[in-house]
Amino acid sequence: MRPEILFPLFAPSSTLKGVGPRLAPLLDKLAGPLVRDVLFVSPQSLIQRRATTIAGAVEGEVQTFTVSIDAHLKPARANLPYRIRCFDGSGFITLVFFKVFGDHLERQNPSGSRRVVSGKVERDKYGSELQIAHPDYLLPVERAGEIPEVEPVYPATAGLPSRTVRKFAQEALARAGELPEWQDPAWLQREVLPDWRTAMTALHAPQNEGDLSPLSRARRRLAYDELLAHQLALAERRLHRRAEPGREIAASATANAIEAALPFRLTGAQQMALAEVRGDLASGERMARLIQGDVGSGKTVVALLAMADAAAGGMQSVLMAPTEILARQHFETIAAPLAAQGVTAVLLTGRDKGAARAETLRMIADGRAAVVVGTHAVFQTDVVYRALALTVVDEQHRFGVNERRRLQDKGEGVHLLAMSATPIPRTLELTLYGDLDVSRLAEKPPGRTPVVTAAVPIPRMAEVVDRLRKAIAGGAQAFWICPLVAESEAVDLMAAEQRVEDLRRWLGPSVGLIHGKMTGAAKDAVMADFAAGKLSVLTATTVVEVGVNVPNASIMVIEHSERFGLAQLHQLRGRVGRGARESACVLLYDPPLSQVAQARLDILRKTDDGFVIAEKDLELRGGGDPLGLKQSGFPAYRFADPVVHRDLIAVAADDARLVLNRDAAFASPRGKALLVLKALFDWKPGSEREAG
Ligand code: ADP
Ligand code: MG
Repeated sequence: MRPEILFPLFAPSSTLKGVGPRLAPLLDKLAGPLVRDVLFVSPQSLIQRRATTIAGAVEGEVQTFTVSIDAHLKPARANLPYRIRCFDGSGFITLVFFKVFGDHLERQNPSGSRRVVSGKVERDKYGSELQIAHPDYLLPVERAGEIPEVEPVYPATAGLPSRTVRKFAQEALARAGELPEWQDPAWLQREVLPDWRTAMTALHAPQNEGDLSPLSRARRRLAYDELLAHQLALAERRLHRRAEPGREIAASATANAIEAALPFRLTGAQQMALAEVRGDLASGERMARLIQGDVGSGKTVVALLAMADAAAGGMQSVLMAPTEILARQHFETIAAPLAAQGVTAVLLTGRDKGAARAETLRMIADGRAAVVVGTHAVFQTDVVYRALALTVVDEQHRFGVNERRRLQDKGEGVHLLAMSATPIPRTLELTLYGDLDVSRLAEKPPGRTPVVTAAVPIPRMAEVVDRLRKAIAGGAQAFWICPLVAESEAVDLMAAEQRVEDLRRWLGPSVGLIHGKMTGAAKDAVMADFAAGKLSVLTATTVVEVGVNVPNASIMVIEHSERFGLAQLHQLRGRVGRGARESACVLLYDPPLSQVAQARLDILRKTDDGFVIAEKDLELRGGGDPLGLKQSGFPAYRFADPVVHRDLIAVAADDARLVLNRDAAFASPRGKALLVLKALFDWKPGSEREAG
C-alpha cells in the first residue's frame, strides 16, 4: 500500500498545470507517466544569463540586455524574417523572428518602449550586425526579475523544450511535501547531506557547474536514497526467497566418491564454495547462489558435486549453458564421473530431433536421467521433469537478469546455482546480484603458467606471424580472434574469411574458422578438429564460444584488441594458459592508441586477476555503462551512477540488510519512513530494463 503522503507525487503527470493532450504523451515519453517522474528529471547543464551592454555583447553567449525599441523592420517578402532593432546607448542589436506575424510583436513592444531581452547573441551572415534570433525573453523592464540569471537545462524533445520541462519540474516540486526522514540522522550528519526536500529543491536549482556534479551533496543524497531503495528491494526479495521451502539435499557419499576420483584436489576456494552451496541445499530454504569466479577458476566441478548430491537424494538437476558447444563440453566433462557412480546424465540441445529426442525426454520424465545438460532447450514446455530440485546456470551473465529471474521463479522449491565468469567489482555485484548469495572463487587452481601478454601494433603483424609459425612447428595451437568491426555481421565475416586465407598462405592449411552464422554441427566439427589437434590455428569472429576448454592451445592473438572491453579481453586470454605449455596473448592494435586505450591494455599486461581488471576497467571508464552491463539488465537508475557513487552502494547494501534483520516489518519510526522511501522509488523485482 502506498503511503498517503505520496499521493500527490503519484498523480498522473497530466495533472500538472499546462500539460494538455498534446504535451502529455511527450512528457510521458521523456519523464514517465507520474508527477514523481517529472520531479525525478535532473537538469543536465545550465545557462548563465549574464546581463551586459550591447557593446559588451559576446557572440555565442546567452546574455541579457536592457534596451529601447528603435524600430520594427517589416519583411519585404513573406519568406523573410520580421526584425526589431533595439538600442542601448552603447550600440544596436536586432531581434530576428522567422515565420511570425509582426502585428502582435509591434503591439506588445511599440517603438520607444523599454525592454529587457535575453537570448543567444549571434552575428548576421554579413558579419555586420549583432542579433538574437527568437529571444528567450522579451519583457517590459518592470518584469526583468522574471529572467533567471542561471537557468537549468533539462532534457527536451521536439515540441517539449527544456524551459517547459523546467516549468513542469518546478510544479512537481511544489507538490512534493516534506517527507519523513528515512536515513540514519547520524550518517547524514557525518556525510553532510541535506534532507530529501532540500536535496530535491537544490537538484532543480543548480547555481553552478559544481551543483550539476553527481558528487554534489544534493545529488549524492538522492543517489543514496535510490540505492537504498533498490538494495531494500533486493534484500527483501532475498529474504522472501529464503522463507520459501527448498528441497532438502544432503552431502552424499556419491559426491565424495566423485571428488576422490578427480585427478586433482579442490582448491580452498572451491571447498569453501562447495560448503556454502551444501549449506544452502541442506537448509530447507531455497538456494539462489551465484558463484563468481574467473575463467579457469574451476566452477564446473563445484556444480558437478552439488548435482551428484541431488542425484544421490533421488532428485534431478539441470545444467544450462549458453551455447551448444559449451553444453556439449560440459556433458563430456561430467557424464563419465557421474556414470562411474551410477548416475545417468543426458544431453539435450536444440539440435536433438525425432526419436533420439523423444527418448531423452522420456528419460527425463521418468527420472532415469538424474542430470540433464543442455542449452535453453532444457526449459522448453514439452520437457517434463520427474523431480527437478536444482538448476545450474553456467555463464549466467549471458542470459540477462530477467531471464535469470524467470528461472529462479520457475519450479517450486527448485534451487538455483548461477555461475559467472565475468568477475565484477563487489559494488557492482551488489547492484546486479543483491538478491543472491554470492560465493567467490578468488583463488585459481595451482600449476597454471601465467600468460605472457604483449601489445603489438598491427603494422608489426608479420613478426607475430613469424613467431606463430615457429610455435606451431613445435606443436603449439593458437586462437586468432577477429572482432566485430563493422555494423554488419556479413562484412565482419568477410574480413575474417580474408584473414583465414592470409593465415593459410602464411602458415599452411591447418587454419580453421568458426563463426556465429555456422550451424551447430559445423561449429562442433571445427571445434572437435581443433581440440584433437588437427587444426593448429582456430580463427573466430567475436567471442562465439566463451568457456571452451582446449588445454593444448597456448597462444591467443586478438586483432583490434582496442575495440574490446577489458573484461572481454581478459575472458579471451583465459582460453589459453590452461596446459603445461608456456602461453602468450598478443593484443594487436591499430595505432595510435588513445591514452585510455593504452592504459587499458597496460592493465592487462600487468595483472591476471579478473577482479582487479574489472575494478580498473571501471575506474578508467569512469561512468556510463560499466562493462556493458546495460545488456545484462542493469537497473535504470535516475540519480545513482554505479561508478561515481560506488562508495555508496556497499553502504546501502549493508544498511538494507541491517534494516531487514532488525525490523523486517518496518514497524519502527525509521521503518515507517523507509516504507515511504520504498514506495517513492517503487522497485519491483524485474523492473530493471531488459537488454537493449
Ligand atoms: P571455469 O571456472 O572457467 O568454468 P572450469 O570449471 O572449466 O573453469 O575448470 C577449468 C579447468 O580447471 C578444467 O580443466 C578443470 O578440470 C580444472 N580444474 C578445476 N579445479 C581444479 C583444481 N582444483 N585443480 C586443478 N585443476 C582444476
Ligand atoms: Mg565454465
